[in-house]
Amino acid sequence: MDRLFKGHMKFREEDFESHRELFKELGRTQKPHTLFIGCSDSRVVPNLITQTHPGELFIVRNVANIVPPYRQTEEYVATTSAIEYAVQALEVDTIVICGHSNCGGCAALNLPPEKLDHLPHVRKWLEVSKEVKGRVDRLMTDDSPEEREWLTEQINILVQMRNLLTYPYIEEKYRKGALNIYGWHYIIETGEIYNFNDAKEVFELVS
Ligand code: ZN
Repeated sequence: MDRLFKGHMKFREEDFESHRELFKELGRTQKPHTLFIGCSDSRVVPNLITQTHPGELFIVRNVANIVPPYRQTEEYVATTSAIEYAVQALEVDTIVICGHSNCGGCAALNLPPEKLDHLPHVRKWLEVSKEVKGRVDRLMTDDSPEEREWLTEQINILVQMRNLLTYPYIEEKYRKGALNIYGWHYIIETGEIYNFNDAKEVFELVS
């Protein structure tokens, strides 16, 4: 596709040229400070919304920014191995779980399973968050689709934050204060991020 090749040439001529030293420095090593776990959604661009450079974020993206609970397994596990590498090998000091508005994966959590017959692996993957719907049902104050969407995305973020702590090495570092864990809800149409405040148990606008 022409757009991709032309875009690459523009990168070489502009952004690469203006950050030549940074890329040279990063050529043989990385020391990211943050593991960023976000949705694969094309509208969520981690480096753009945090204004970070190459080398700063170690990024995992999957459908609905999910963290499977810790388990020892012989399966090929992409998200679990990326978490392990970021925390144990790269020693990041921060983990961000970043959900977002209008998330298709989160919307699917509210659908009857047969609606996902044509997406069997997505359906299986979303089972990690199967408790979300019931929790949202109990929290709903009106019957609006907007409230359901917002709550589903935010409760889903909290489930993943809790799942992170099932990883023994994460739990230990978190308990010692060596690891920060943030839950973010990114709103596509406004560019805003709501950060989960642990003490108050609410998402608050970052400002
Ligand atoms: Zn999404």
